[in-house]
Amino acid sequence: MLEHSESATPQPCAQSFSIDHLAPSMPDFPDDPAHATAPQSVVSERNRSRTLWHLYRYGISSRAQIAKALGLTPAAITKITARLIEAGIVTETGDMEGSKRRRSIGLKIDTTRFHFIGVKFARSLVQIGVFDLKGKRLSLTDMPRVSDDTIDAAIDATHKTIDSLLAADPYIVAIGMAVPGPYLHGTGYAALVSSMPHWRNINFQKEFGQNCPIPVFIEQDARAGALAQRLFGTLDDAGSLAYFLLGEGVGLGVIENGRLVYGNLGASTELGHVSIDAVDGRKCECGNVGCLECYCSAGAIHEQIDKLGIIHGSEAMTHIEACKALFALAEKQSGDTPQIRQARGLVADIGRYVGYGCVIICNVFNPRRIVLGDIGALGGQQLLDAAQAIVNQRVIPEIAQSTEITFSSLPTDAAVLGAAATAITQFLDRPSYFRAARPPGNAR
Ligand SMILES: [Zn+2]
Repeated sequence: MLEHSESATPQPCAQSFSIDHLAPSMPDFPDDPAHATAPQSVVSERNRSRTLWHLYRYGISSRAQIAKALGLTPAAITKITARLIEAGIVTETGDMEGSKRRRSIGLKIDTTRFHFIGVKFARSLVQIGVFDLKGKRLSLTDMPRVSDDTIDAAIDATHKTIDSLLAADPYIVAIGMAVPGPYLHGTGYAALVSSMPHWRNINFQKEFGQNCPIPVFIEQDARAGALAQRLFGTLDDAGSLAYFLLGEGVGLGVIENGRLVYGNLGASTELGHVSIDAVDGRKCECGNVGCLECYCSAGAIHEQIDKLGIIHGSEAMTHIEACKALFALAEKQSGDTPQIRQARGLVADIGRYVGYGCVIICNVFNPRRIVLGDIGALGGQQLLDAAQAIVNQRVIPEIAQSTEITFSSLPTDAAVLGAAATAITQFLDRPSYFRAARPPGNAR
């Protein structure tokens, strides 16, 4: 996880990195580059957001440093920061050395006053975490394992857990949720959740967005992962990034020019349902044949493990347990048993499938970096090498060489962090939309 700098001087920018890459989602903001037609209130909110993003990334800064970085006048920054200080979001830290040895007052975001709930719905697993503004985990609740006929009970239990968290912590200001894709923003439903169809009957917006005392933001899981990668990953992930989720489902979140790619219904970048064998491929629940998800999702990998009998007792394991056991076996340095050889062979196969996905990502989105996340991030060097080899063989050299493929640097069990990142991003984008600490006990 990125250690956010608390130094007085902004860190050197990576490549063409711009702070504007970090304040992407202001949908009502016109594209007019001169902003000439933007209402003043929208411009003001955008500048407050840019100021917050600057402080979030670079830590303590003086008003003069922020003004210079954002190209705004000192008078404008004074007004913007006064509003942020009044709202309790920004605090003064005392004297710091400014330019020409002049003393100036440092500013920083008060991260202690804003907490966020992240809820990760991952088919059979629901996790609920509380995080501070910088992604530090304050608590984590693993809900009981979910099957298709216990989804309603899981929703009830999620409500109860959220209620008790809100009652206990008045600093929680928003909830972010990550749900399996394709998630249709306009309706609130997930259009398809392979192997667990009852999830399709849950309207997440109605279920959680209505009657909640604080804002709730819902995002497709891979996009939430992309937001987490941008918030808590390395600095140069900011502008052009593809987060390739390899978990119970297979998904993709793409940040292009600092903005998430959505498509018409919010169902674009559904890489898991792109076919890699349209003729003889495995049949997918989405109606397509040979979908990538049928080959390298945790469920598909588990099926292969069981079929090959590589891991003793794998039938009784969860998908995650089985995948972890496979990766651990394949990575064993000593021994050369048939099981270890089979495990290595299967991991190499998975890596090749991941590589086919990367080829598609390179050719469709040409991101600077592809980050492999979730359970797949535990696949080890063998998986990464197999994926990279496919990309080297099948992608135009200039594109292959300029695309970095890495494992996510975030902890694997931090998928729920992506859910919180959805809410944290909104907080930084629209600070006026949020209120500081609610009175204790003011839950639903
Ligand atoms: Zn499919």
